[in-house]
Amino acid sequence: MSVSIPPFGTRIGFHASTVVEEHVIAADELARAGRYEQAYAQLREAMQLLRDERDPAELVTPANRELVRLRREHAEARELSRRDSLTDTYNRRYLDEQLVTLRAESDVLHSGMAIALVDIDHFKQINDRYGHPFGDRVLQRVVGELDAVLPAGAFCARYGGEEFALVFPGRDLDDAITVCEEARQRVDKYDWTELDDSLRVWVSIGVGHTLRRPPDVEQLIRAADVLLYAAKESGRNAVAFRDPANLRVQLAGPAGDRRAIPQPAAPAD
Ligand code: GH3
Ligand code: MG
Ligand code: MG
Repeated sequence: MSVSIPPFGTRIGFHASTVVEEHVIAADELARAGRYEQAYAQLREAMQLLRDERDPAELVTPANRELVRLRREHAEARELSRRDSLTDTYNRRYLDEQLVTLRAESDVLHSGMAIALVDIDHFKQINDRYGHPFGDRVLQRVVGELDAVLPAGAFCARYGGEEFALVFPGRDLDDAITVCEEARQRVDKYDWTELDDSLRVWVSIGVGHTLRRPPDVEQLIRAADVLLYAAKESGRNAVAFRDPANLRVQLAGPAGDRRAIPQPAAPAD
């Protein structure tokens, strides 16, 4: 009985082109998560394989193509399971997963991390006045404005209802405050008349930061939530944070001049 063994080159080709696809899919996933260095490393691996003189298209067999299709579908399904269906931003599941993973990342261990909680002001009134589907469109636009300001490595996730978390791994408090104030101003200045002439939308934001190694993410979220409440109490449409020097709550930008800024007790660290 004779056993047919494929030529060595073909076997290598089959393996190589599958692996190239694998590296590209992995790079795509890492880039979406803002992990650019690791994404680049994956692409470099793919390039290395493609430097092989042969045309990879010639090497694709039906079985190989099917494998790649299944892998791509799996990657797409995984991505979908991480997204919020209304706003297309990341969902709570992704946020929870990332908060576990990030605890061990070198940037976070080196520079700490910030988390901001963003809540739309008087959103119930928007729903009551214009209807729920209209409110949904407002949510989508707000997410667009939040996403527009995020620096590399940071991400937005729907925390629940009309509340969003902005996560800034490896960023200091000043960076996070600057980005959040920019986000607040973008929402404030956005041309909402496109949706309705009388519509105005504001957000309040609480920004927490920690240098703890590893960070206590639950405590960080609690701190951001307390600060969000302080921003609301101070008159809304504001970004609240704690001055690390004296732990006093302050408001970023022009809202800093407001007189009544609540001073909730700082959580014990
Ligand atoms: P505050 O300034 O204190 O945050 O007031 P608020 O009205 O925004 O807060 P409240 O918690 O009273 O109302 C939040 C509203 O958000 C109530 C809820 O119906 C609405 N909401 C939550 N999720 C969605 C959604 O997916 N779509 C729409 N249209 N509304 C939503
Ligand atoms: Mg609200
Ligand atoms: Mg809310």
